[in-house]
Amino acid sequence: MPRTPPTPRVLMVTPEAVPWAKTGGLGDVAGALPVALAARGFSVTLVLPYYRTVREGGHAVEETGKLLRIPVGRGALDVVLLRAKGTPRGLETLFVRCDPLYDRPGLYGEKGRDHPDNAERFGLLAAAACEIARAPDLCPQAPQVIHAHDWQAALVPVLLATRYREDPVLQRVRTLLTVHNLAYQGLFPPEALDLWGLPRGLHDIRFLEFHGQVSALKGGLVFADRVSTVSRRYAREIRTEEFGCGLEGVLEERAQDLTGIPNGIDVGSWDPRADRHLPARYGTGDLGGKRACKAALQRELGLPERPGTFLVGVIGRLVPQKGVDLVLDALPRLAKLDWQLAVLGSGEPELERKIRAAAEADPRRVAVRVGWDEGLAHRIEAGADAFLMPSRFEPCGLNQMYSLRYGTVPIVRAVGGLADTVRDARSRGGGASATRAKPGTGITFRPATAAALAIAVARAERLFRDPAAWGRLVAAGMAEDWSWDRSAADYAALYRTMLRRPPRRPALPGEVLRPPAAPAPVVPPGPATPPPPEWGPPLPDRTGRDRLGLLVQGARQLYAFWETSVAGPLRLDVVEGGSGARRTVASPAAPLADAWIGAEPDRSYRAELLPAEGGAPVLRSWSVRTPRDRPATARPFPGVPEGAFGTVPGAPAVPSSPKGGGPPEGGGR
Ligand code: ADP
Repeated sequence: MPRTPPTPRVLMVTPEAVPWAKTGGLGDVAGALPVALAARGFSVTLVLPYYRTVREGGHAVEETGKLLRIPVGRGALDVVLLRAKGTPRGLETLFVRCDPLYDRPGLYGEKGRDHPDNAERFGLLAAAACEIARAPDLCPQAPQVIHAHDWQAALVPVLLATRYREDPVLQRVRTLLTVHNLAYQGLFPPEALDLWGLPRGLHDIRFLEFHGQVSALKGGLVFADRVSTVSRRYAREIRTEEFGCGLEGVLEERAQDLTGIPNGIDVGSWDPRADRHLPARYGTGDLGGKRACKAALQRELGLPERPGTFLVGVIGRLVPQKGVDLVLDALPRLAKLDWQLAVLGSGEPELERKIRAAAEADPRRVAVRVGWDEGLAHRIEAGADAFLMPSRFEPCGLNQMYSLRYGTVPIVRAVGGLADTVRDARSRGGGASATRAKPGTGITFRPATAAALAIAVARAERLFRDPAAWGRLVAAGMAEDWSWDRSAADYAALYRTMLRRPPRRPALPGEVLRPPAAPAPVVPPGPATPPPPEWGPPLPDRTGRDRLGLLVQGARQLYAFWETSVAGPLRLDVVEGGSGARRTVASPAAPLADAWIGAEPDRSYRAELLPAEGGAPVLRSWSVRTPRDRPATARPFPGVPEGAFGTVPGAPAVPSSPKGGGPPEGGGR
């Protein structure tokens, strides 16, 4: 009789997961995948931080009574573990509670700036996940696979290869790192290695070093057993200079271990037949409800209520990645078309301003809602005729899959997951491959230009005027299956493949790997120690120490922070290492402050705090080096014309990142 293969036990580590915390597609994936795996009989433990949004979200959460002492830097942090109540059988969700680090607004940053202690915040998450995995009272049967998501969890494979290399439990564990967006890398100064309890020798191009800094994501890419990303096309693209964000070399080396597994969508909450956000419901073969949704959407957004006008929706983060600027640039070219545009999103203030201005200039055609609105996102997906997604790069993308299910024809740039999930209308019956022979489901275009986008929208509008052809596109899209079940099956197969190979622990030269630091013992269960009502002291705004730090924020930007007890007027200078050229960037310099400083690529710098009238410095920072401004990174993203978004003089033309860990040439931490 064939033996049923054993069911792997999986510990999943993520910085966000619905319904608790979400900033984008990763939240959807990390919420849905464990549920889908548990439904397939897997045993899954999900680990994420106990953010303020979780605490305030009214979720049912209980104390586990477990405290863990997690080594951080030279000391240790005590964290409390909480558990979500009412999770499905086979799934346990654990929250790592450390209020000084997680109880604040914003998952990764606030007001467009990353939290300055993100290295500590997510170093703690990774280390806590390792301690959970090896704690017999938390995981009586140790996990066989730890599945880490994005840079915020990418230190788990690094810790397993170093601190826990000889650990009797963890040395048997395989790791999978899933990259949801390579542009967010978790870049920090080399001192972060000390904070993470990792050997300084890892600041080496073969390991975590990245243009003078350390990259948490690169560490995961180097040390994980397997790496996956969220579409097959993106898995190939990130091995090229155009999409590799400087990590294409590492990814090429790991090509054998790199897999693309497309995300799925939550077909429960995204179902036009039962969607509670819609004024009318509909399904395949009965699109009357969709027409009602269109009329209601036009009314809701203050657009003229005209069934015959081609209504196009856009939803997403307003950042260069999503190509919203291309939409704006294409508007004049589409002035003669009978069409309307409905935009929902938030992101970069400059893009928000431009898109609002476009709506004010042409309110009968363009409607914009800036902000987060789950209900309106559903109503746009249902009410629009077509959905526009002109991303410069797109690891997977969810909205185009919602569109297919809602009979809303996607118009997409043929990159990454968009190319994998949308077949062009012209591909019907064409081509030799089986995929090509399938009927088209949307409109695709390739150049990242306003001209190509305008041609694609105009082509879609012509098809819209041909009800039979349009009906075929709609029906083919609605017949597609992009549910989580398919993705979960692919992940299950990947876990099983991983278990057939011995755990991968790349050899580390002796000079890199110091004797492993003794991991902190798990505090014995004993009598459960409930945390005091207000757990942990509030973060002090001063440390009481004299210090001056300098961080690289990109090829053309530095960030300095300082604290001093020295009295008297002071100034802050930045000194270029090569020429010794000195610039005063703050005068007078407050005793506790920070500053953003323009810089040149590929130069070393240090900062000095000195008496305002000159003299010996009272504080000197470490030296840092800005990365090269290579051709591939001189532009913020592939295909973005320089200056497209308006740059601050001396600052890199990249957005600050709502996801943290920013693109390699700036905006990150
Ligand atoms: P990314 O992860 O790059 O942001 P995805 O398309 O993979 O992009 O996922 C974005 C998710 O966030 C989708 O579920 C989308 O509907 C949702 N979303 C984005 N912006 C908004 C918004 N302003 N209001 C409501 N939902 C939004």
